[in-house]
Amino acid sequence: MGILAGIQIGAISFVDEGVDTVLDLLVEKAGINAVFVGTQAFDRGLAGRQVTRKPHPGHGGDHQVDVHTGGSFVTQHEEFYTASTLGPWRAKDAEVAGFDTLGDVIPSAHERDVKVYSFLLENTHSGLTNSIPGFSNVLQIDTWGRTDNYACLRNPDYIAWWRGLVEDQVKSYDLDGLMIGGERNGPLDNVLSDGGFARNGGSYCFCRFCIQAATEQGIDVRRAREAYLELDRLVTSDDSGEYDSAFIRFLRLLGQYPELIEWDQFWREGYEAFQANLYGTIKFLAPEVQVGWHIWHHNSFSPFYRAQVDFGKMSAYSDFIKPVLYKDAAGYRVHHYVSTLQKRLFRGVSEQTVFDLVRSTLGYDENVTFDDLPALGFSADYVQRETARAKATAGPGVAVYPGLDVNIPAGEGSRYTQPDDVRASVAAALDGGANGFVLSRKYSEMTHENLEAAGEELASRGLKR
Ligand SMILES: [Zn+2]
Repeated sequence: MGILAGIQIGAISFVDEGVDTVLDLLVEKAGINAVFVGTQAFDRGLAGRQVTRKPHPGHGGDHQVDVHTGGSFVTQHEEFYTASTLGPWRAKDAEVAGFDTLGDVIPSAHERDVKVYSFLLENTHSGLTNSIPGFSNVLQIDTWGRTDNYACLRNPDYIAWWRGLVEDQVKSYDLDGLMIGGERNGPLDNVLSDGGFARNGGSYCFCRFCIQAATEQGIDVRRAREAYLELDRLVTSDDSGEYDSAFIRFLRLLGQYPELIEWDQFWREGYEAFQANLYGTIKFLAPEVQVGWHIWHHNSFSPFYRAQVDFGKMSAYSDFIKPVLYKDAAGYRVHHYVSTLQKRLFRGVSEQTVFDLVRSTLGYDENVTFDDLPALGFSADYVQRETARAKATAGPGVAVYPGLDVNIPAGEGSRYTQPDDVRASVAAALDGGANGFVLSRKYSEMTHENLEAAGEELASRGLKR
């Protein structure tokens, strides 16, 4: 198979601009041969128009007025949800009411030889899942015993709900593939990074299903909870009266409470089991449908997360992976991550030193002044290095389609994608040995000149369809 030239796109773009018009434009301008359609989303990264604080991209409806409410953007069928207390939940976004973003798109896409992948994003930090009846019953429980915003991946009803979601989609639609994503990390990394942009820096999960599973494995749940309460005290304190730095006391805590690592690994294993479960479910129902994973951008920032996301291990349940390699947004995002890590774990060490440590341990050059990062973004060299690493570690059986950023909104003063950036990202992914790429996050944010740049890079290599 040739190069997969993919793009992420939500229902609203098809409704705003017309299914045939959008598909023709994507094929002609960008050489697209695969659309990753947002079918399930509870945050604005995948559904809805451009965010309000950014300029209108020059196509689509008024981005100041649409409201994303979260849920499914396809026609759902009750019979697939009987094993769970959670039922089907169609997004109530008024602009796309009645539109089926698979049923109304697949025939036109296939006519044009464009593959259709369903993209389901498991993110629930926006709180929009609170409109689903009973959703609070499947949420994680944090170290303090409070209900968390994210569902527990060991909760049987939540697992059954996801099995229902994917069964409904593969049986109801002629899909070429499914891509599933969840932007969430284990408790240790979450505490150290204060939850990133999206959530709080709490630790989890102490629900009855996790406690039972941990106890069966011989993990001391009481000690694990104590450990995370101690860690929370450490990362939120101001060091007054302390002789040792926060990092030294963190190492001491690891020695006193090996449960910090044990509990974090236990959480991670629950996540991996969830992924493997869904992979096997889809393959049982539709062996030819390609199943892959959206790999959160955090994988490019956090050494703690990187250590856990093992592409080699994932190859047992992956036909493809889409590591997020947004070079322009990386500057702003890494800046935020490093500055948080410095405040919580490396107090007393300069942010520049922490950044140099992080980029070196992750294997990037990006040798710049820390405070210039948001405006500079990362280089295309980062995209190429990460693509090559993903290819090498995932092994020959797993296709790698890096997610490349096009006009992703970031903080004030951050780098905003230009055509040269797109050309450089596409080139770097292909030079790194990628099997294709996916323009991200969503078409409704992208300018047409940036889409043309992707097509130009493909054409210059004789790869444009
Ligand atoms: Zn749990």
